[in-house]
Amino acid sequence: MIEPRLWLSTAKGLPCGQSEKIQHVGCGQRPSLFVKNDDDCYFCYCHRCRQSGRVSKSNPRVKQKLAPKTGWYPKEIIPLVDAIVSEPYNFREVFERNRITKYVTHLSYAKDTQRIYFPDESDSFLGLDATGQANARFYAPTRRAMAAYNVGCAGGVLITGNLPQYLEAVTLGVTGAILVMNKEGEKAALAALSEHPPSKLFMMDYLSDRFTRSLRAL
Ligand SMILES: [Zn+2]
Repeated sequence: MIEPRLWLSTAKGLPCGQSEKIQHVGCGQRPSLFVKNDDDCYFCYCHRCRQSGRVSKSNPRVKQKLAPKTGWYPKEIIPLVDAIVSEPYNFREVFERNRITKYVTHLSYAKDTQRIYFPDESDSFLGLDATGQANARFYAPTRRAMAAYNVGCAGGVLITGNLPQYLEAVTLGVTGAILVMNKEGEKAALAALSEHPPSKLFMMDYLSDRFTRSLRAL
């Protein structure tokens, strides 16, 4: 990871959405360090040594939760597009199998877990295997196989067990969205919905009967 003192002040000085290339101090003479002020984070990536750094804007809690080494939490999450730029051949298969290509700019990636992560405000760290070789295609170190985005949305909440459907809802932004893929995820989703009762609930694909009944009873 590239230390924040080498790039964070540059990132913070940029208008949101803008990027710049600066010298990665101690790593060559040319400006190889890509620094960006992104919507939800400050991010850097060095095209020379391929290290990166990321500081979340909206949710500093995420950074703390990544520290424990007990579970399989990603050490460092980077925008997926940056991982694809450096290793395009590693992602062909996961895109062919999962119909997520059109949402690539909304996805993240961690090199240590080799998993793709989705927009998620529940801190569940549900990750999709990018290698095609993991036993669990979807895995969450929190045991909550779920993701949630903008649950308090005035337009209601779409709830689904289908990843592309979740990503479509997140991208459209008309409703909030919840992705649920196991029983722990169902529990967490029900808790989130009780906390923020939605104006409308759109029940979509691959929801268990038990979960569907609990949703109707909300
Ligand atoms: Zn470097």
